[in-house]
Order: sequence, then C-alpha cells, then structure tokens
Amino acid sequence: MGSIKTVGIVGAGQMGNGIAHVFALAGYEVLLTDISQESLEKARTTITRNLDRQVTRGAIEEADKTAALGRIDSTLTLSDLGKRDLIIEAATEKESVKTAIFEDLVPHLGPETILTSNTSSISITRLASRTDRPEKFLGFHFMNPVPVMQLVELIRGIATDEPTFTACLEVVERLGKTAATAEDYPAFIVNRVLIPMINEAVYTLYEGVGSVQSIDTSMKLGANHPMGPLELADFIGLDTCLSIMNVLHDGLADTKYRPCPLLVKYVEAGWLGRKTKRGFYDYRGEEPVPTR
Ligand code: NAD
Repeated sequence: MGSIKTVGIVGAGQMGNGIAHVFALAGYEVLLTDISQESLEKARTTITRNLDRQVTRGAIEEADKTAALGRIDSTLTLSDLGKRDLIIEAATEKESVKTAIFEDLVPHLGPETILTSNTSSISITRLASRTDRPEKFLGFHFMNPVPVMQLVELIRGIATDEPTFTACLEVVERLGKTAATAEDYPAFIVNRVLIPMINEAVYTLYEGVGSVQSIDTSMKLGANHPMGPLELADFIGLDTCLSIMNVLHDGLADTKYRPCPLLVKYVEAGWLGRKTKRGFYDYRGEEPVPTR
C-alpha cells in the first residue's frame, strides 16, 4: 500500500466529503475534521448516499460500502490529525483560513507527515512557507465531484522534494485516478485553460456575437464539449469563475485575463448559476431557460 496508510482531511464540505469517500473506498484510514459538527454529520450522510448510488449501479459491493464507512472517523479537534501520514486541507478557499489551519497543525505533526492543499487558486509555495516543512508540501487538487472525476492535479511548490511528489503520485494511482503534474502558477492547468474559455464565451455573449443558446450549442456540437461553456459556468458558480479570472489577472498581470464586465454584472446581481437558481439560465421552472 506504499508508505501512506492514514489520511487526515481538513474541511468536510463539498470537496472534503468526496475526498474522504474515495480514500476510504481505496482502503485508507480517514480522519475528517471541520469547525462545524453539522458539516461533519452532513458529510457522513452525503458519503453514505453516494456509496449507496455506487452499490445500486453495481460499481461496488454492499460489503465495500460498509468497509469504507467503517474507515471514516471524524473529530472537531484539528490536532487529532497530527500523526496521520498524509493531510489534505480542503477548507474554505480563503488564504487566512488555510494558513491558520497549517500554523495550528504544525506543532502536532509527526516528522514524516506530508501536508497538502486542495486549493483551486492559492499559491502552494506561499502556503508551504507558513509551515515547518515546505519540502513535504504539495498541491493535491481534486475535481468536483470527486468520486466521479478522473483527474488529480499534483502541484509542486518551489521547495517540494521528489520523495513527497512520488509518495503522492502513488496515492493517486491507488485511488484509481490519473495525475497531471503542474507547476505552481496561478490556477494551475485545468482552470488556467478552462476559465478563460468560459470568460471568452461570456465576451461572445456580451458583444452580441451569439445568444446563450447558440454559444452553448456551438461548443457542444462544433467542439464536441459535453456541456456548453455557459451551462458549465452555471454549474461551477459564476462567483467562482470570476474569482479565478481575478487570480489570473492579478497573478499574471496580462490584460488577456480581464474578467468580462457581463460576468461581473451577473455576480453583482447575485445570479451565480445553479446554486442560486439563476445565472446564464433560469432554473426556477421545469426546464432551464436562457436569461439572454
Ligand atoms: P465548502 O464551502 O463546501 O466546504 C468548506 C468546509 O470547510 C466547510 O464545511 C467549512 O465549515 C470548513 N471549514 C472552514 N474553516 C475551517 C477550519 N478552520 N477548519 C476546518 N474546517 C473549516 O467548500 P468546497 O467547495 O468543498 O471547497 C474546499 C476547497 O476545495 C477550496 O480550497 C476550494 O478552492 C477547493 N476546490 C473546490 C472545488 C469545487 O468545485 N467546489 C474544486 C476543486 C477544489
């Protein structure tokens, strides 16, 4: 099973529960922590429901589900995670939250514990510099929803050493997923390519080149994308798309990354996509209806 057998996950939200799910199913002992007891309870309910779905589809056996649930423990005390072989931080995307977590964890860590973050945009090198072990620190970036998506981006900070990278690569393989290696630059690979494409689709709408419908149909049928870019933007969340564009714009200082004013306007309106029932489509009725 490699050198890593026990895993600590910080943050039991959308990503944390998915990460706990795939690790437990692959045989790792998982300890999940959050500041909210309600999040921990909700995570267990979500994991159980998603495992049930896999049993129904015939992807796993009932016994695998029971065993996986038996490998997931939870705690409200962050320091309980200290002696785990690998820690994956998947808390709220705020640098101050993440640095506070790492600073609180450091005094409780075992000497060999590897620290990682699931951040979508914050510099791995900067997070690593706030710990006692920048060489044992890596970006471990899962895609949403974790049990479904095949890719994990592994992001080396400037100080990350080879044994740390190799140990995490072995973990990705054991999870049955595929790793892509990225250097530590704003938004890494997937979001660096994907989010400017979405922003360009919003410009195409803003400039009147096409309607919501014609832009999505063009990319689905003309580029073979499973979802249109505007439909996908609503799925990701328009606030998230905007914040990643801002990270690219600030971090790379290139005007080609300027967020489209129409994207900014949708976010200002609170039309954030599926989660608020309105974005480039209106989801309040039976069928999504384009809003432009
Ligand atoms: P979320 O809001 O669903 O969950 C965040 C959780 O962190 C919450 O349960 C919150 O209570 C908890 N939390 C906050 N402060 C904490 C602390 N100090 N200690 C422990 N727990 C704390 O967010 P999410 O979508 O799961 O995102 C988590 C991370 O994953 C972020 O860094 C995000 O950028 C990254 N990510 C998100 C996606 C996505 O599509 N949502 C994809 C890839 C990566």
